[in-house]
Amino acid sequence: MSALAERWRAARPKVAGLHLDSGACSRPSFAVIDAVAQHMRHEAEVGGYVAAAAAAPALDAGKSAVAALTGMTADDVIYTTGSNHSLDLLLSSWTGPRTVACVPGEYGPNLALMAANGFDVRALPADGSGRLLVDATAAMLAADPPAIVHLTALASHRGIAQPARELAETCRGLDVPLVIDAAQALGHLDCAVGADAVYSSSRKWLAGPRGVGMLAIRPALAQRLRPRLPPADWNLPMTVLQRLEHGETSLAAQVGLSVALGEYLAAGAETMRAALAAVGKLTREALADVDGWRVVEPVGEPTAITTLAPTNGADPQRVRDWLVAERGIVTTHAEVQRAPFELAAPVLRLTPHVDTSAEDLATFRDALADATEEV
Ligand SMILES: *Cc1c(COP(=O)(O)O)cnc(C)c1O
Repeated sequence: MSALAERWRAARPKVAGLHLDSGACSRPSFAVIDAVAQHMRHEAEVGGYVAAAAAAPALDAGKSAVAALTGMTADDVIYTTGSNHSLDLLLSSWTGPRTVACVPGEYGPNLALMAANGFDVRALPADGSGRLLVDATAAMLAADPPAIVHLTALASHRGIAQPARELAETCRGLDVPLVIDAAQALGHLDCAVGADAVYSSSRKWLAGPRGVGMLAIRPALAQRLRPRLPPADWNLPMTVLQRLEHGETSLAAQVGLSVALGEYLAAGAETMRAALAAVGKLTREALADVDGWRVVEPVGEPTAITTLAPTNGADPQRVRDWLVAERGIVTTHAEVQRAPFELAAPVLRLTPHVDTSAEDLATFRDALADATEEV
């Protein structure tokens, strides 16, 4: 195992079985767990609001880390409770015409939020793998620009890295704001690509606690937002980002996320991205010719998300449940609701972190063969 893999593994509790589920929820480190517990202890000792004031420098450091990863400044970043919450905050504050364009494989819950906020959704051109076609997109956007372009830079149901930087350039040229869902992409792909807003979740590739997320908005876009609360005509002396950020959330989780971000940046963002791409390739190579399943992604796709489509009638949900119950192996059953306009049938998703070895993948391969026979 590489030194990075060893450090990552040694920094957290021993896994019970095999954890191939970082796209759902990574394993937090001892330092993150301790930071969460310590903040709660401090709340008990001095009072929650005094503890919050004492935690401000740690929380600011977390925002600076998010800023570094998204190409924004710390003042552009707020904490939310997750990616969906971030998108809802943004869309519910939008003042212009409610039209948004995204790829056909857009994340189902995001489409639901767009609909709930009264947005008309149009599809951007993509190839057969779901990857955005940049030139065709540029032509389409120029001919009839939507109010917002939204890109899930890396999807939940398929490990295809979208051309986020190219799309950001296109959008900038046309003066259409680009919003990026980086729930899977942050800490995984380069997200400092020049988008106008980027949001993500703590618990996925950054390995922070659950229940916290972040939203970064460039000032030019923030200026165009009108948060629902508090009512704008009360004229309270608050910035747009102050209005969007709710104080009454788990500060312990935010402190934990800040520690996770610090650990991530200390390991090196580029090093982590390269290691995740390498583990993705290792995974696809290990499973290339496994009976009854087809690897969906190109083998060298620079992501650690691998999906397996059944070729002989296996049920991904039952296989996933069997693997947990019988072997202590955690994967994801990705159902079609995740990408209702792209995914035709459920898939089994493997999302190993940087400490997954070839040996782990061989263990998984054997277990999958057993599961496929048993269920
Ligand atoms: C997980 C995920 C979300 C939702 O994140 P939450 O923090 O659960 O709200 C949104 N988009 C993508 C691509 C995801 O993978």
